[in-house]
Amino acid sequence: MIKSSGIHHITAICGPAKKNFDFYTRVLGLRFVKKTVNFDDPGTYHFYYGDESGSAGTILTFFPWEGAARGKPGAGEVVAITFEIPMGSSAYWTKRLSELDVVFAVDSSANQATIAFHDPDGMALEFIEAGISDEHIGWGLGGVPAEHAIRGFSGATMLVSELEKTGNVMENVLGWTKSTSSTAHGFTRVRYMAPGEEKFGQHVDLLTNSDVEPARSGAGSVHHIAFRAASDLDQSAMVKAAASLGIRATEQKDRNYFRSVYFREPSGVLFEIATDAPGFAVDEPLATLGQALKLPKQYEAHRAKIEAVLVKLD
Ligand code: ZN
Repeated sequence: MIKSSGIHHITAICGPAKKNFDFYTRVLGLRFVKKTVNFDDPGTYHFYYGDESGSAGTILTFFPWEGAARGKPGAGEVVAITFEIPMGSSAYWTKRLSELDVVFAVDSSANQATIAFHDPDGMALEFIEAGISDEHIGWGLGGVPAEHAIRGFSGATMLVSELEKTGNVMENVLGWTKSTSSTAHGFTRVRYMAPGEEKFGQHVDLLTNSDVEPARSGAGSVHHIAFRAASDLDQSAMVKAAASLGIRATEQKDRNYFRSVYFREPSGVLFEIATDAPGFAVDEPLATLGQALKLPKQYEAHRAKIEAVLVKLD
């Protein structure tokens, strides 16, 4: 069967744009790879952060809403995003987070120590050290030296009410395999792994217990998680596989930097399947990604009006 090779990107909702921009570029040192608008609401931004070129598996994106109320984490959502940092970089990051007044907790109880913290809107983030990606050079922005820079996603955790059915989608639509299963603090955690040919975004943990409350979407909530399709053909094969489970995906939408379909899996998490092509260098040079406001063709005629309503970032 066709397999998705990993997480493509994760998209979340946030509050004030400037606060989000400052945190992800100046505290975490991610590269701002694209400044554009929400294609469905062009008076608001859509921000993309990632590695140097915005490789699939490193891209975290946001819809900033200046007055958004906080969401409440719960079932039917991604509840934690895990980034990989280089082996030996934990000490650097705990010092940096302390200095920049970001509250964090270190959990050494699992096989891999985790540094857990929140972004300014309360979204849960984690760092784990991973040796595998050491040859992937970090961008080294925002005062973070390249040797300690975030490499990309390790994976994500979703809180689900339908463990079996969601697992079935992971296996039979995305072609991922079930790996470990554990229980702690009354929660069952089941890990699904991508085929393992890519460096980043290779796991999704399904977390559940008997009485998980549904999430309330708002600032600090993940809006959707996107999985990679190597081609349009692979994407349509995954859509067919979803249909055979009774799940209907949207028609393909052109997102300029990838082409996407969307569906809700049985626990209510919004899944997207996004093509690897064409990528972020399609409308501006790699060297200057994220510097200019990029608009899709249909909004170019309204550029002046759109620029006038968007908040300035510096
Ligand atoms: Zn998306």
